[in-house]
Amino acid sequence: MLFTLRRIVQEATQAEGLTNVLDLIVQRVHDALGVDVSSIYLLRPRSEQLTLRASFGLPEGAHLQQYEGLVALAAERAEPVLLADATSHSRYQRFPGSGEKPYRSFLGVPILHRRHLLGVLVVQSFDQHLFQEDHVAFLVTLAAQLAGVISSAEISGELGGDEIHDVCRNILVSGIPGSPGVGIGNAVVIFPDTELAAVPDRKPDSIDDEIALFREAVARVEADLQRIKEQLAGKLPSEDRALFDAYLMMLSSSSLIDGAVERIRGGNWAPGALRATFLEYQRYFDEMEDDYLRERATDIQDLGRRILEQLLTDGQKRPQYVDNTILVGRDISASQLAEVPTEKLAGLICTSGSGSSHVAILARALGVPAVMGATDLPVSRIDGIEVVVDGYQGAIYLRPEKSVRSEFERLAQEESELTQGLWSEARQPAITLDGDTIPVYINSGLKSDLMPAQRSMADGIGLYRTELPFMARERFPGEVEQAAIYERVLRSFPDHPVTLRTLDVGGDKPLSYFPIEEDNPFLGYRGIRISLDHPEIFLSQLRAMLLASRATANLNILFPMIGSMAELDDSLALLDRAQLELTEEGVEVPVPRVGVMIEVPSAVYLAEHLARKVDFLSIGTNDLVQYLLAVDRNNTRVADLYHDDHPAVLCAIEAIVDGGHRAGRPVSVCGEMASDPASMLLLLGAGVDSLSVSVAALPRIKWVIRSFSRERAAEIFAEARELLDPFSVRSLLNSALIDAGLGALVRAGKH
Ligand code: PEP
Ligand code: MG
Repeated sequence: MLFTLRRIVQEATQAEGLTNVLDLIVQRVHDALGVDVSSIYLLRPRSEQLTLRASFGLPEGAHLQQYEGLVALAAERAEPVLLADATSHSRYQRFPGSGEKPYRSFLGVPILHRRHLLGVLVVQSFDQHLFQEDHVAFLVTLAAQLAGVISSAEISGELGGDEIHDVCRNILVSGIPGSPGVGIGNAVVIFPDTELAAVPDRKPDSIDDEIALFREAVARVEADLQRIKEQLAGKLPSEDRALFDAYLMMLSSSSLIDGAVERIRGGNWAPGALRATFLEYQRYFDEMEDDYLRERATDIQDLGRRILEQLLTDGQKRPQYVDNTILVGRDISASQLAEVPTEKLAGLICTSGSGSSHVAILARALGVPAVMGATDLPVSRIDGIEVVVDGYQGAIYLRPEKSVRSEFERLAQEESELTQGLWSEARQPAITLDGDTIPVYINSGLKSDLMPAQRSMADGIGLYRTELPFMARERFPGEVEQAAIYERVLRSFPDHPVTLRTLDVGGDKPLSYFPIEEDNPFLGYRGIRISLDHPEIFLSQLRAMLLASRATANLNILFPMIGSMAELDDSLALLDRAQLELTEEGVEVPVPRVGVMIEVPSAVYLAEHLARKVDFLSIGTNDLVQYLLAVDRNNTRVADLYHDDHPAVLCAIEAIVDGGHRAGRPVSVCGEMASDPASMLLLLGAGVDSLSVSVAALPRIKWVIRSFSRERAAEIFAEARELLDPFSVRSLLNSALIDAGLGALVRAGKH
């Protein structure tokens, strides 16, 4: 059973186009369960009506309308409907004179995707019996696994059959809000250049040139294989060398190569045509019963990858960023994001991740609208098409209609007017109505978020993520190289504090040159744990920071992911050593202020003790929330369980602030909770001393601070502490903002 299930899911995942996917499923289910007929009903887009979309085993001229009432019943109940004699059920619809022999046994299983009904998978047989329990279990398992595939194929189908650029408009794809704002532009799909299945369709400039390129690439692969085969003659047994003959034969096969050429003639670029053709053949072999032949699918995949490697010139590996680029990819890294010229970047879409993933945080830092976790987006089919990114709602519109487009343009315009209105005031200090000045720092890490205009609004840098320059390189940067980077950052605010956080790689911030393979990366080897294991790397970073601070003497050093007193003690000991080494080398460096990030639950309980050993605490709510709520911040599936406003989070924040203050140390917040105008009110109310926010959020955050007194914020926090669910806290905050005349912040993006 498990094998059959896996095979069906694998084949359906690889099939292209909704019709192929559905036909394949009904046929495989029919064969696997030995039923008389199997069918799939899907909800029509934007309607409540279920319609038959595919069936297998239906005799000529027969129809299934009689059973539509029962299909609808499975949909309404959102659970399987199992009947030995469907014809005696009240929802069975008799059609006088239909004359068909009825199917008596019936099993309908709803197909649910992210709590939404997509359709119903049905099997029926003529004789009267109840389907066995393992048949029910089989279909339930299959429906659950195929829901995502069907949903994605449906959207792909709306984009248009095998035609690349068809005319279906306004296709809505849901995701998760990643960064607020509206972006309108054209999709530029980025893909790993070694992964054939990820290559997007694209229109070539010249079909003839594209065919020539393709043929040249094939010839180069052929020559390479021939050469390797000859080199291995006498070294490998002849049966192993036969593999090369098989590859060479495939390359000379007209169906494979001509198939790809045909697709180029149909208007796809060579890598896209290669993907479509080779995956089709791979699927064909995958489906074979014979083990030996099935193995050949892997050869086809390997061969396809070799041709792709030849095909993608360096120029093609680097995407062409058009004006108003909407950057689209499965995973987008910080360095890929940084590669797009800021003036060209209009939006970002990631099919994985969530609003708390690092790439979303960077998008917010850059003020670029983003949607994350758009799992159903058929990435390979959207390169070049017009897209609206609604970063408020987490929605994407492919080929928007004129009316939708202008509605979003209006929204974007209102937003930019609001921001501009707040921009000039943002240069003033953030003073509460009862006269408390709250330093507001910025979070940084990319060159582009340190522009002079932004600098004029902030009181310094509250979090500089040093891992970002590390990620942009191909090896660990040396001490001198690092010192130069840090000096530039420290000099950007020469008269204000600048907080450099020591390396926090791991989790969703990998270093290509320091790969870490783990089952649970966020609970694994990251942040200070790596630094303490590698004093040679840590010491050079600490020395570089100290050296960089000589001119400005404004350095704060922040340790990430501290979970125990021992980790802090060891980190401080290494910092002392770095200072001592420099003194011994005759270099005088100013003494930095030192802080600890509170982002691991154990540190919440140790806050007071940790604080006594350093100068300040900084709460990293991004990780703190993920660890407190056991919600992976990078996992799309659990993204709607991630809440800054969760009662447990508020309780933790209260404990940290109290602990820090008992030790006589200030407490700051550098997690994204500080950048959310509503949640930030809670931080103000909890007694946090300063905030570090994304540049794009800064004007709004200052506006909120100036509109409330500390006393009022404390009342709101006390009220929120009495509430037991995040949604009630959110509505309390929204009402408070509206009452204070800041309704524009609540309504932003509501359309
Ligand atoms: C945090 O965890 O809140 C934080 C600021 O660090 P990062 O997002 O880089 O993990
Ligand atoms: Mg963190």
